[in-house]
Amino acid sequence: MLAYSYKRFSSKHQAQGHSIERQTKLAEDYCKSNSLELSTLSFEDLGVSAWTEANTKEDAGLGQFLSVLESGAIKTPCYLLVESLDRLSRAKIKVAMNQLWRITDYDVVVVTLLDQKTYTKDMDFTDFLMAGLIMERSHEESQTKSKRLKAAWAKKRSNQDMHSKAPFWLDRIKGDPDRPDGYYLNKHQATVQRVFEMASDGLGHYTITGILNKEQVPSPTARDWNGSSVSKLLRYRQVIGEYQPCTVENKVATPIGDTIKDYYPSAISKELFNKVQLGINQRLKKYKTHTGGSTTTHRNVLRDVGRCSCGKYLSLVKKRQRYYLQCIGSRSGLCSIRAIQMDAFEKFLRQYFMSPIFHNHWVSADKANADIDIKINKLKLEQDESNKALRGLLSVIETNSNPLILQKVSELSERITERSKTIAELEESKGTGNKQQSLYETSKLIDLAYAIEDEPENLTARVKLKQLLNATFDYFEMTRVDSDNGKALYYFIELGFNGKPLKYKSIDAPTALQNANKREIWFAWSDKPRIKLTEEQKRAVIEQFRYYP
Ligand SMILES: [Zn+2]
Repeated sequence: MLAYSYKRFSSKHQAQGHSIERQTKLAEDYCKSNSLELSTLSFEDLGVSAWTEANTKEDAGLGQFLSVLESGAIKTPCYLLVESLDRLSRAKIKVAMNQLWRITDYDVVVVTLLDQKTYTKDMDFTDFLMAGLIMERSHEESQTKSKRLKAAWAKKRSNQDMHSKAPFWLDRIKGDPDRPDGYYLNKHQATVQRVFEMASDGLGHYTITGILNKEQVPSPTARDWNGSSVSKLLRYRQVIGEYQPCTVENKVATPIGDTIKDYYPSAISKELFNKVQLGINQRLKKYKTHTGGSTTTHRNVLRDVGRCSCGKYLSLVKKRQRYYLQCIGSRSGLCSIRAIQMDAFEKFLRQYFMSPIFHNHWVSADKANADIDIKINKLKLEQDESNKALRGLLSVIETNSNPLILQKVSELSERITERSKTIAELEESKGTGNKQQSLYETSKLIDLAYAIEDEPENLTARVKLKQLLNATFDYFEMTRVDSDNGKALYYFIELGFNGKPLKYKSIDAPTALQNANKREIWFAWSDKPRIKLTEEQKRAVIEQFRYYP
């Protein structure tokens, strides 16, 4: 008869340790002495702790075995080998007992290898009760263990050398009965808060470093701030009070055990921390592919969506005190389209970006929206985790076509799809805010973004504007058509909006930009942008757009 081995890992570290080896050895021995064939199929929780909430769901641990039984993929009668009943589940006893009951009901003999007890569908009520008692004891043990662990850490903490290293935003003062661990937030907490707020506004760590140094904000080392330490700070979970115990060997720190929450007083809110993590993750995804020009002044607000009509990115260049958008292909002679004055793009923004069709995409978030954003951010972080897990599973599939892994993959992808839907719904549910207010704010944002100064408020405005453009346009293509003598005749803009292309063409000759007092440049919506308008058509379009600000 076939026997299945139930292997449970309580954490990744345990998974790598000898817990699996020990269980496998016990299972092999049992099969030998009872003439059973050990199936190579394994039921792995894939790193999910059996004691956490996640595992009380039926899809984990025993539940996984149950669902396979229910699907009919396993022929019964058969054996299920576990080390002991606390290997079954340290989750809620009721769930675990119910699962044990249902499994034996499928004509599966459950064997606990340590005490060589068997549980069958014919077990009497005493056996069942015994099973419950064993589980309850192990549940209590795991709770005591976790309590003891906490107490041990608290003791270690209070015994710790006063000079041992605390994060720089914390001081240690011993002897306060209200704070036996002795940790207090110090003056640097405000700096930590500020750094995270700037990051949450979308500023990168180099820009933040520049601002801190320019304002001479005191650093923990009394030297200048540097980019890499700011970048590390933005990832430190200590700022939300978490601590990861480590062992240090040969100067390499290896984490041991789970992170301890509430170890330190929190320097910033969890929401702010999560929002920043999400931003960093997204930026990592986006910026791997290209460099679109200056990042220190953030002037190229089209950095992510801007394209030349040849398909390459538009970068920002400065010539004779003016800013231009230039195709990155032109540097290497791959594109002959000449640089476009930044002013032309700014004109387009002021004329069209403020128009009603784009409005709902960038209305400023009111309080309700901020709450929804917190929810969305949390879901998006979970989504990142799931995607990571899915990639891991997919790489396992390459060498192992275990049906349970396949099942886990399909479950995970289903969950990812579900979560995307929820995120989309939440996005949809955001209010449109106060239109008057958001028009005013956005026009102020554009003013700040295009100011000649490079103060923090200008940088923040540019980053915000860039985010608005990214959120509004699928792509943004800008190109120019020159006359025979090389002067710009027209600008063309094609942008992707809600999956559809919208096309615009400048009405007047853009050379007017060089003498802005004389003539203005206007963009007109155009169905066929590459066709020259007749004088009459031109006048009609000018008339049509005359009333825009
Ligand atoms: Zn180009």
